[in-house]
Amino acid sequence: MLDDASGPSCSAGLTTTQACGTPQLQEPDGPPSAMPAAVDIPHVERLLGLAADIADTPIAAISLVGGHQWMKGCSSLCNIPGFARAQDGCLRGLELDGAVIVHDTLADPTRSTHPLVSGEPSLRFFVGIPLIGQKGDVLGWLSVADRMARSAFPSRARARLKRIARIVVEILEDESRGAVYDQAHGFLSSTQSPLLISDGVGTITFANPACERMLGYQPGGMLGLNVRVIVPTRFHGPHTAGMAAMVAGGTPRLAGKTVEVTAVKRDGVEIPVELSLSSWRSSAGIAIGATIRDISERRSRDARLLRLAHQDPRSGLPNRNRVIEELTAIQASQGEATVLVLGVEGLRGANDNLGHAIGDALLEALCVRLTARLDPGALLARLHSDELAVVLRGLADPLAAQACAQSLVLAFAEPIQVGDHPLHVGVAIGAALAPSHGSDAEEVLASADLALDRARRDGGRCFRLFEPAMRSAEAARRNLLDRVRVAIERQELELHYQPQIDLETGRICGSEALIRWRDPERGLVMPGEFLAAIESSVLALSIGWWTIEEACRQTAAWREAGLPPMPVAVNLFAAQLRAGTLEEVVKEALERHGLEPKDLEIEVTETIALRPDDHMLRPLRNLNESGVGIAFDDFGTGFASLSMLKSFPLTKLKIDRSFVRDILTAPFDAAIVKGLLDIGRGLGLQVIAEGIETAEQEAALLAMGCRLVQGFRYGKGMEPAEFATRLAADHAGSASKRRLRRAS
Ligand code: C2E
Ligand code: CA
Ligand code: CA
Repeated sequence: MLDDASGPSCSAGLTTTQACGTPQLQEPDGPPSAMPAAVDIPHVERLLGLAADIADTPIAAISLVGGHQWMKGCSSLCNIPGFARAQDGCLRGLELDGAVIVHDTLADPTRSTHPLVSGEPSLRFFVGIPLIGQKGDVLGWLSVADRMARSAFPSRARARLKRIARIVVEILEDESRGAVYDQAHGFLSSTQSPLLISDGVGTITFANPACERMLGYQPGGMLGLNVRVIVPTRFHGPHTAGMAAMVAGGTPRLAGKTVEVTAVKRDGVEIPVELSLSSWRSSAGIAIGATIRDISERRSRDARLLRLAHQDPRSGLPNRNRVIEELTAIQASQGEATVLVLGVEGLRGANDNLGHAIGDALLEALCVRLTARLDPGALLARLHSDELAVVLRGLADPLAAQACAQSLVLAFAEPIQVGDHPLHVGVAIGAALAPSHGSDAEEVLASADLALDRARRDGGRCFRLFEPAMRSAEAARRNLLDRVRVAIERQELELHYQPQIDLETGRICGSEALIRWRDPERGLVMPGEFLAAIESSVLALSIGWWTIEEACRQTAAWREAGLPPMPVAVNLFAAQLRAGTLEEVVKEALERHGLEPKDLEIEVTETIALRPDDHMLRPLRNLNESGVGIAFDDFGTGFASLSMLKSFPLTKLKIDRSFVRDILTAPFDAAIVKGLLDIGRGLGLQVIAEGIETAEQEAALLAMGCRLVQGFRYGKGMEPAEFATRLAADHAGSASKRRLRRAS
């Protein structure tokens, strides 16, 4: 009777403890894998009571290797597994079935000194039945013990104890399975990873809340459905075949892999998902589990990155990569294409000066115009900030390219109104044909770029088709630029001065500074031979600033030498206006050399004057207001409209040489000259005619009321010393004339 247990260390009730191992009684390494972390044995008290009854002992205990013990009749019976094994060295008391029976502990030298024997509760008789799990591992011990030694232990009692031990094992293993199942189920249901399990025919046997939420189902709404409901109809064929193969014993094609597929939500919307499949054989047959991850966000991010790689971020237009890709594909398939590269003048200026919002809107409006003029199959792309490209697929015909280019040029004819800004944008177009103008996409595009350079240098607003000679011309241009660079270092550039005459007085009233290159090998090189190459290079700026400085220095030097004050006109490069520092540079140069604003005139051509926005003209306007002269060079030869004279800060119009040349023979030219003179007068501007070579031309101009002239008739551009002599003579001549007039 367990209840009858007596003695100071025995208690009447059930106690549960953790094993308190002693140094000589080593604990096993840890609980067997199947052992649940928190063990509970239902009806353990009754089981222990039963064991004590069967063995007729006051003490009964169940101890698990994890440390848990339930005891009946004794509170200090510790570490029964340790006690049971104390004899391991000599196998005393060990029965064949693994039970340990010790009839008298004092007669057993391996146990007589054991603390449970020598001390409380002074065990004399001990039976330990191992609790052996399904896998053969010892889960613990069922033991009975007495303070009295026994001579025998009936085999029936032993068999019954073993039955109780089996019940305990079953309970333990059920508990363990149940606990694992509980934990797994809790985890599967609460995890945020969508999970789905189906049987071999595809019936959904489990779907966790995350999965139901992701796919738009009510809680429990997926149970019993066929997994096909989440497979797009177009994939039902392969899906059904895959399931059938698997049921027939094959492993699922996707098992163990992570794949990106499309899933259908309850509302029919398809989403990209990442699917990891696993399969196992359960008691009910084959089961398939899937973790499913919605990757819509990642996909759209990937798509965005992909788009960015092929798209200009500001305009959303396809970018250079896309053009290359397109051309490569066309060439790979032996196809043909035309590439037009559009150099847009004024786009960068609008961005820089009016801000990106205006610049972007301008580009957008421009693209709408261009698209309207393109076939639907054409690709419009943005190569750089101010370069667009058009790829015409399946077309490599020079005439068709030209027709398209001409149509595109027309898109730039009218200013584009963006908010309050009427923005003028110009364009030059270069074109190349694939495959004839390049062996690969890059080369075709480079050819179109070369053609664009040519179109730009030819004044813009025009179209040039690539010619192989452009490559050698480009090489020559680079070579020339290198030489000019050296010329600048060696100070081989100089300014010559061409007189400007006031016909009414017959005297020099000013001069135009004209650049020359004194090449040690070639002699004096005229600007026509090297300026075109420079205009589109960075050298334009350094040369441009130098001309202002040098003209001011020379003018001041002449004045210093006692010559009469004479304004000097300096030609401007477009880059100088773009640089944004023109006003400061001019003012500083004037100040440095003690000149007044009226001593300098800036000559601008319409490539400079036709800036798309007001902002670019501000430096000229400020200089004009301060008294610096602004002359419109070559007026009437280009696209400058009369209306722009209204807003352009000007003091002078220069009638181009081409009108003067045939003034006597071409009534049309004569009419233009007359008209320009009238306009100038009407606007209160000075008007000077260029290129007068003969007395007849002079007379015709005079008759039209033209007072200011410049031309070979009065002198070519001359070296400073020569010009000074001329100026001195002019001065002396007029002085003697004045003296004569006074004398008469
Ligand atoms: P431009 O500004 O129209 O300069 C006038 C050009 O016409 C000069 O040629 C001049 O020598 C030439 N010319 C003047 N009178 C006559 C004439 O009666 N008959 C003929 N046939 N020609 C005449 P140049 O010096 O060769 O300059 C050519 C162009 O080079 C200039 O045209 C100007 O656009 C540019 N240029 C010259 N010097 C400079 C400079 O310092 N800076 C800049 N940016 N451009 C310059
Ligand atoms: Ca000029
Ligand atoms: Ca001119």
